[in-house]
Amino acid sequence: MPDANTLRAIAAMREAGLDVADSGDDLFFASLDHSRHSFMPAARVRARKDCDICSALKIASEFGVPICPRGSGTGCSGGCVPVRGGVVLDLSAINFIEVFPSDRMARVGAGAVTADVDARAAQFGLMYAPDPSSHKYSSIGGNISCNAGGLRAAKYGNTRENVLALTAFLPDGRRLECGRPLKKFSVGPNLRDLFIGSEGTFGVVAEAWLRLVPRPRARLAVIAFPRSDSDAFDAVEKLMLSPLTPAICEFMDADTLGCVRAKNPSAEVDAPAGAAALLLEFDGEPIQVRADAEEAERLLAGCGARAARDGAEAERFWKIRRGASQAMYLLADSKVNQDIALPLSSVKKYFEFFKKLSRETGLPSPVFGHSGDGNYHIHFMYDSAVSGARERAWNAMEAAVKKAVEMGGAVSGEHGIGFLKSKYMPFQHGADELETMRALKKMFDPKNILNPGKICFPGAVKDIPAPLTGVRLPWD
Ligand SMILES: Cc1cc2nc3c(=O)[nH]c(=O)nc-3n(C[C@H](O)[C@H](O)[C@H](O)COP(=O)(O)OP(=O)(O)OC[C@H]3O[C@@H](n4cnc5c(N)ncnc54)[C@H](O)[C@@H]3O)c2cc1C
Repeated sequence: MPDANTLRAIAAMREAGLDVADSGDDLFFASLDHSRHSFMPAARVRARKDCDICSALKIASEFGVPICPRGSGTGCSGGCVPVRGGVVLDLSAINFIEVFPSDRMARVGAGAVTADVDARAAQFGLMYAPDPSSHKYSSIGGNISCNAGGLRAAKYGNTRENVLALTAFLPDGRRLECGRPLKKFSVGPNLRDLFIGSEGTFGVVAEAWLRLVPRPRARLAVIAFPRSDSDAFDAVEKLMLSPLTPAICEFMDADTLGCVRAKNPSAEVDAPAGAAALLLEFDGEPIQVRADAEEAERLLAGCGARAARDGAEAERFWKIRRGASQAMYLLADSKVNQDIALPLSSVKKYFEFFKKLSRETGLPSPVFGHSGDGNYHIHFMYDSAVSGARERAWNAMEAAVKKAVEMGGAVSGEHGIGFLKSKYMPFQHGADELETMRALKKMFDPKNILNPGKICFPGAVKDIPAPLTGVRLPWD
């Protein structure tokens, strides 16, 4: 039951005319994200315009009640989960999209769905490049707050590289215009960058100006099946040493490919046993794309690289990659996973360590990821019925994340920290860095009401409960 203060804040929000829900499914679905960790809020407020964000924040601040911004809830790290209760501020209804074709920019509401932004840009021959696999559901506000990546990040960068300016509200309701919708300017520090990747802990993003690029007139997929994981890493190195820049460069290790093949024979994996897979996509003008694909075929001839003959064959290649995430459950019924980033030059060495760890712990360890930018989704699979298996998997994962950072990598390449990875923050950041982040948090949010308990900020969850099972989410 929420405390009296929280109930007073909720009553004040209703009185201010805000759209408040405080029961049933509305609250349950505001309590969790894709991680399926659930903490119940006392209410969900759906903002429909800027002034709703401002009023909700002012009231939460006046009563000192936690308030947690939420886009679509597809996050994987518990970022929008209200671990300290209070109010969830749902931004999904602020979803306008305006395209300015000659500026190659779009102005969009925080709740605009990523794929809808790209679809609108397409009407003008333009493209919004960041394409997280969740793009049919995720919101631009959520993408900005996690600095989301996607398959095309290899060529076009993460969300950060594609946000020109944004409007944010501070926890006390003040409105900040951060950056400008210009190709360039040089007028002091750009506050925009503090709101990208800070997971709704510094302010609430209300809208953003996004960079659009000319929509490529052609795309061509190339698949290769290197004989081993190690051969696949060599192949990526070869690509990186060449003048080619694939828009997409996806890797599946031998374990993952084996599962895809076993689970889905219709995927037609035409590869030797023990092979890994690389799936490239080139985009641009038709002649250039064809030339790039031929060059890739030549470079990776030893791995049997071949370009798709037509759209149907490209679709078959993609089916293999899309099957990766589900197929690995053939190895065990549960997984612990992370999305580390590595310097491209350390990848081979890192995975020697990772697979050794897998052998030592007896935990299967399928890997897939975005080889073009060094961001890998690493997994330890375990059987939930085996006592102590979950703990073993978590311990192994902790060692794996630590090693990635030691080798010059990062705890997360695109999913962010939320509350689930807070304990890894000291692996990557020294005391002075953490202190500087905390000082910034204090400056933006002195009462610590905005999304408390996330990243490295006060209110952390000490004992993380097990995630819920049996919950179906729209993107499942
Ligand atoms: C099937 C699937 C595939 C995925 N693939 C990818 C992928 O390829 N690449 C990738 O990067 N991620 C991926 N993700 C993770 C997820 O989709 C991204 O992290 C996405 O950016 C989250 O957007 P969201 O709108 O769902 O945000 P939410 O989950 O609602 O929130 C995420 C974080 O952003 C904050 N937030 C949300 N909106 C605002 C706002 N307006 N102002 C301030 N803070 C805000 C929240 O408080 C929270 O900390 C995937 C997830 C799923 C389920």
